[in-house]
Amino acid sequence: MSLKSKLPLVDMNRSDESASDASPRASSVSGAPDNFLRPKSLSEYVGQGSVVSKLSVFLSAAKKRGRPLDHVLLSGPPGLGKTTLAYIIAHEMGGRLHQVPGPSLDKSVDLLALLSNIQEGDVLFIDEIHRLSSAIEETLYPAMEDFQVQMMLGEGSSAQPVTLPLPRFTLVGATTQPGRLTAPLRDRFGIPLGLDFYSIEDMRQILSRSAKLLDVHLGTTEIDAVARRSRGTPRIANRLLARVRDFVEVEGDRFKSPLKAVEAALEFLDVDSRGLQPLDRRYLKVLMEQFRGGPAGVEALAATMAEDKSTLEETVEPFLLKEGLIVRTPRGRTATDAAYAAFGLPAPALIGP
Ligand code: ADP
Repeated sequence: MSLKSKLPLVDMNRSDESASDASPRASSVSGAPDNFLRPKSLSEYVGQGSVVSKLSVFLSAAKKRGRPLDHVLLSGPPGLGKTTLAYIIAHEMGGRLHQVPGPSLDKSVDLLALLSNIQEGDVLFIDEIHRLSSAIEETLYPAMEDFQVQMMLGEGSSAQPVTLPLPRFTLVGATTQPGRLTAPLRDRFGIPLGLDFYSIEDMRQILSRSAKLLDVHLGTTEIDAVARRSRGTPRIANRLLARVRDFVEVEGDRFKSPLKAVEAALEFLDVDSRGLQPLDRRYLKVLMEQFRGGPAGVEALAATMAEDKSTLEETVEPFLLKEGLIVRTPRGRTATDAAYAAFGLPAPALIGP
């Protein structure tokens, strides 16, 4: 059984976040490797209705006035479309996109080098903006507010402060942890937008679009099976689609129907019927079995699992919270009755004496 006729070469495994590179350099849209599946305009961007309608009004107003869009802060879990929106904003405003991961900006001079390349109407996209150092933040404030940078010229006692004007640009910041942004930085974004997990219907639409672009032939029932396991996250959906395609191409002939083949592929990929992946299941098991359901601090969970704390906070917990499998209290994380039910275990309150 084959799901494809002709497939373009796309590295579906590429995570834009993991592609962050340690050097403080930015890539422009024209120079970046094209992400084949990235929607290019707001009209192609599926879902996130409230974000899209706000952005569309503010973009139109900025274009009407002939001024760059105000600075935009995009927050939400990884893979929901923040980078895509930064590309779209640059495209809609007719500017170039300069993209840089926040943690790679080490010294103020790195940021100054970036800003010196910017032209009127360009978009500077800083990913993981909650990870900026305070020195970078200090340099950023006047750049955002007054479109100027302050620097010292010369050394020692003869050093003189100078102020350099910048072209008007739009800063788009993306964060998976909006609570970690300092208040002064957060307050300088005129357009804060929060992205949420996508509905099943949106996920079906995203998968149908991706399947079409990749020339992968899947029926609505098979698309639905993948959509339900995609954790409301387009990046995961696209990745599952690619791996399902691989599996079906190699093993598909063993199955009676395309749906059976797709279900077997998803099982093979260790994704369960509600989209939980091995790391999610391990998190829940550790919380329920080793911490007796909690409350447990994320540091303790990360140490027990030998995982990075921010991986748990940024990629695992948002979905478990949304699914009602855990709750977060000031004392730590607690597994809910639904989590016990998902593993066929009795919830602590129901365990007899
Ligand atoms: P983030 O920056 O939030 O981690 P990205 O913008 O890199 O996420 O999105 C990951 C991938 O998911 C993109 O390459 C794109 O193909 C797809 N995607 C994201 N949002 C949408 C959307 N609203 N509609 C269709 N595809 C989307």
